[in-house]
Amino acid sequence: MPEYAELLQGYRRFREDSFPALKDKYADLVSNGQHPKLMVISCSDSRVEPARIFDVDPGELFVVRNVAALVPPFGAGHSVASAVEFAVQFLEVKQILVMGHGQCGGCKASLTRGFAGKPLGQGGAVDAWTAQLGAVRDGVIAEHGSESEEALRAMEMAAVKHSIANLRSFPWVTEKVQSGALKLRGAFFSLSEGALYSLDEASGEFVSEG
Ligand SMILES: [Zn+2]
Repeated sequence: MPEYAELLQGYRRFREDSFPALKDKYADLVSNGQHPKLMVISCSDSRVEPARIFDVDPGELFVVRNVAALVPPFGAGHSVASAVEFAVQFLEVKQILVMGHGQCGGCKASLTRGFAGKPLGQGGAVDAWTAQLGAVRDGVIAEHGSESEEALRAMEMAAVKHSIANLRSFPWVTEKVQSGALKLRGAFFSLSEGALYSLDEASGEFVSEG
């Protein structure tokens, strides 16, 4: 469990090994700027690291992480919106991937209106943030209840679809999707399997990538 002193040990390995190996890439990124083709919106969860899961170098993914990988609807001027705006309008990414995951604490908190019998937090921020999943939660509870593993998995997957639907509420996102310049994707990372499932647009199902 790295605290700062242990992080610095990792940093020294980075300086000795990774940075020299990627020196030309970093030099190019400094001279020519970043040109990532893909934006990822994923959870803040320490177990779900997009660059590690997709095994990519610096400069390849433009990433936003927050509790439960959520995108609120257009119009609120929130931090996710600023990142999406920058990615779509300035970096001109070709795809946005919303990646949910198993054992998501944010989805569980929303589903059960609390966490492990404890209230959602003193400031109410987790409650306020995950409240946007209210309609999603109601649908999941109607079908699966709120206690089972199936319910949580359904919540985690439905949250991905919720965020993609909200991305479509950004007019300049929808414009680019319709012109073919931008593709919206969903995925689910199963922690227990270390496996990725991609959302199939036609069927609405998450399909194993092996
Ligand atoms: Zn999560």
